Amino acid sequence: MSVREIVTVGHPVLRERARDVTLDELASAEVQTLIDDLVDTMRHARGAGLAANQIGVPLRIAVIEVNDNPRYPYKPRIPLTVIVNPVIEPIGEETVAINEGCLSVPNLRGEVQRFVDVRVRRFDRDGNAHDEVRRGLTAGTFQHECDHLDGVLFLDRVTDPTTFTTWEQFERFHRAAFVERITAFVDRVGS
Ligand code: ZN
Repeated sequence: MSVREIVTVGHPVLRERARDVTLDELASAEVQTLIDDLVDTMRHARGAGLAANQIGVPLRIAVIEVNDNPRYPYKPRIPLTVIVNPVIEPIGEETVAINEGCLSVPNLRGEVQRFVDVRVRRFDRDGNAHDEVRRGLTAGTFQHECDHLDGVLFLDRVTDPTTFTTWEQFERFHRAAFVERITAFVDRVGS
């Protein structure tokens, strides 16, 4: 297990569509170690999620975990979830504006519209199939990570470029209003 280097925007691997993993590959020591490394690297960077291509491996694998994260105190907790070969689709048309950042886009945040409810079909690290509904900010996190596996960054989904902000300016000028709005949203829809 080890912490790997996170590649940043401009690296071509972030723009590739990652490929599906076979269940035999998933069971291999190499891919199981990759999953351990994704978890270690995500936790070390204090991220809420990390996709394999963010550490330079173009396979359809991502990990998500939200504990009491000082970067995102308003986010509902998500137990460690390994996502393999995900297929994600919106349920309904309701969207919410979420101020997002990304470990591969250092020191930049921006506002992205995400579907409030999504259906996620995926495998876990043991090859078990899951078919589940994710909601609210948690649905947003799943959409962000699945986007990575398609070579899409949150930057591409920012429709209003005036919402771009560094972390410093987010803290100074935008955080309070965002947290107030998003807390009301989380209270309304749950996760
Ligand atoms: Zn990201």
